[in-house]
Amino acid sequence: MKGTVHYEKHGEIALLSIDNPPVNPLSSGVRQGLYDGVTTALDDDDVKAIVVTGMHRAFIAGADISEFGAAATEGVGLHEALQIMEGSSKPIIAAINGTAFGGGLEVALCCDYRIASSTAPVGLPEVKLGLLPGAGGTQRLPRLIGAEAAVDAIVSGNPILAPQALEMGIVEKVVEGDIVDAALEYAEEIVAAGGATRKIRDMFDKVAADRGNSVVFEAAAAQLEKTHRNHFAPTQILKCIEAAVNADSFEEGLETERRLFAECLAHPQREALIHIFFAERAANKIPDLSKETALIEINKGSIIGAGTMGGGIAMCFANAGIPVRLHDNDPENLQRGLKVIESNYARTVSRGRLSQDDMDKRMSLIVATEDFDDLGDADVVIEAVYENLDLKKEIFVKLDKIMKPGALLATNTSGLDVDAVAASTSRAEFVCGMHFFSPANVMRLLEVVRGKESSTVALGTAMALGKTLGKVSVMAGNCPGFIGNRMLGGYRRQADLMILQGASPAQVDKVMYGFGLAMGPFAMSDMVGLDLGWRARKMMGGSNEITARIPDELCELGRYGQKTGKGYYQYEEGDRTPLPDAEADEVIERVSKESGFERREFSDEDILKRCIYALVNIGAKLLEEGHALRAGDIDTVYVNGYGFPTYIGGPMWYADTQGLDNVLADIELFFQESGDDVWKPTDLLKKLAAEGKNFASLDS
Ligand code: NAD
Repeated sequence: MKGTVHYEKHGEIALLSIDNPPVNPLSSGVRQGLYDGVTTALDDDDVKAIVVTGMHRAFIAGADISEFGAAATEGVGLHEALQIMEGSSKPIIAAINGTAFGGGLEVALCCDYRIASSTAPVGLPEVKLGLLPGAGGTQRLPRLIGAEAAVDAIVSGNPILAPQALEMGIVEKVVEGDIVDAALEYAEEIVAAGGATRKIRDMFDKVAADRGNSVVFEAAAAQLEKTHRNHFAPTQILKCIEAAVNADSFEEGLETERRLFAECLAHPQREALIHIFFAERAANKIPDLSKETALIEINKGSIIGAGTMGGGIAMCFANAGIPVRLHDNDPENLQRGLKVIESNYARTVSRGRLSQDDMDKRMSLIVATEDFDDLGDADVVIEAVYENLDLKKEIFVKLDKIMKPGALLATNTSGLDVDAVAASTSRAEFVCGMHFFSPANVMRLLEVVRGKESSTVALGTAMALGKTLGKVSVMAGNCPGFIGNRMLGGYRRQADLMILQGASPAQVDKVMYGFGLAMGPFAMSDMVGLDLGWRARKMMGGSNEITARIPDELCELGRYGQKTGKGYYQYEEGDRTPLPDAEADEVIERVSKESGFERREFSDEDILKRCIYALVNIGAKLLEEGHALRAGDIDTVYVNGYGFPTYIGGPMWYADTQGLDNVLADIELFFQESGDDVWKPTDLLKKLAAEGKNFASLDS
């Protein structure tokens, strides 16, 4: 049996210490140990109260992932252990020394009292894996803190630090010093005061006011539609909390939780979310980097370009406590960049999510400089100037001269040739791409781009730095657009072709929105601004690409998107709702006819397949070429950088769920119809389909 619980007596108090390093997951030995420990304490007349705590870093970090999916067959089940705790006639005090997540917090909720170390986080993160707290959490937490707060906590699944947990009423006390000493003392006080137990299951005052009141739950459901559209588990969580408030008994609420938990367990979203959970962890590993390899220690950073990306990346460094120099050759842009950073932080402060003190600390870590030579003593420099290869090369020639030996030199290019950039230095082995996403201080994804000379030390350092900055890092090969933008290009082209062939922007957008994207490709263009691409094409002397004609003509008419109140759609003043527009429709139909297309109808299914299978075929190509290491890496990129719904698991996972033989049949059909290169079925897809395998099999 894995893990154990030690039993000790301290006078009248039994101390149960959970020992399953490093984070005390609820393995068979821990469940059995809790059950046995409480039984022993209850049988011992000298024991008047029980303290439960965790050794090592955590109280209980959650379920045991190694027992994941499999029924926990050994020892007592969690429900039995919780039952004996909640049934205890002697008060039990949870001494939350560190992380109490998921089942860990549910254990604490079966205790009579809870005290926590000031740095301990608690939370119920099950929703992130498509589940709900299935050991009474949805019934006990609302009784402790009220329905509304419980909905927020369980639907977000986010960690709650002890001081906030105290404010919310999840714990009764926060302790700075030794938590076990404090818990023993607290237990003695409780015994001295008569040893009363305090069962959450019997509490009702926090939810009494909401009983029979549908308004709270209707408002919560409306909110979920905005924040968690199409997500299964959050809706189930809401139903559970409604049961906690409205069911006739605690048992009936528990029964509802059990039933809805089982539905989550059987739902395809759970598998997709678990896939992404593991894919994100796997993505961080570089196969040829051994654990022993010494990486570059990053104590100081430099950034070139104080625009949209450079400013955001500087914030990432400051947020992680790393001093950073920010340089721009245009003093006005440098000052503007700093102002943007400052106002971003100020907004967070005004929302109460950052203290003024912390903002000041972060701002002091970002030092603006007009002098390029100031950048040289950093351990890493990230270039984020305009997307122009010659300019980037020029900058790397200069960096080669000033950067200290052994520093990491990275470019934030969105898709230019990293080898060409590296070749302008005498140390290509220290050069790689670090492709952040906009806004860089918010988006979780980082593509680390491997040039042909990039050393594993440089790549490993970039990946590790990504982790320090709170990013999910994925390694991509050096091909135009890397993983994400190369795929996006294919998706976008299909959408553009379909409106030339007869679909409307509104229909394509509706299908993609329905699939789960925050918005479809044309609403997205209107938001970003059609003029960006138009200007870029004009700078290159114009484009012959057939898909450029519609946006070019719209821009000629001053239809840049939301910023001018019209693009593919029109917008009313101060409103971002896209409305149909006759002028745009006329442009689309005319360009389509002039380009020789015969307009036809597209079914919604057809639109979806053309958009998503373009991603899939390019994804397969990336795998085949070795530009992506794992199918899961592609899914990680798409979910974290491109708003692909996590509950669908990413494009490659989605293809697996459709059956690769079906996907291949459609792709072959699209290829026959169009002759378009993007539809040329990749050998990898053909091979997997022929063998009855899926993309996931490549990663296992
Ligand atoms: P931006 O136009 O907002 O900022 C670029 C900054 O670079 C400007 O302030 C400019 O003054 C400065 N600059 C130009 N030449 C310079 C030089 N020689 N020395 C110092 N500074 C110089 O651009 P951005 O959107 O931040 O993009 C920067 C890079 O990041 C590009 O390579 C772009 O492709 C990439 N990128 C952009 C996004 C995005 O969504 N904006 C996303 C990912 C990657």
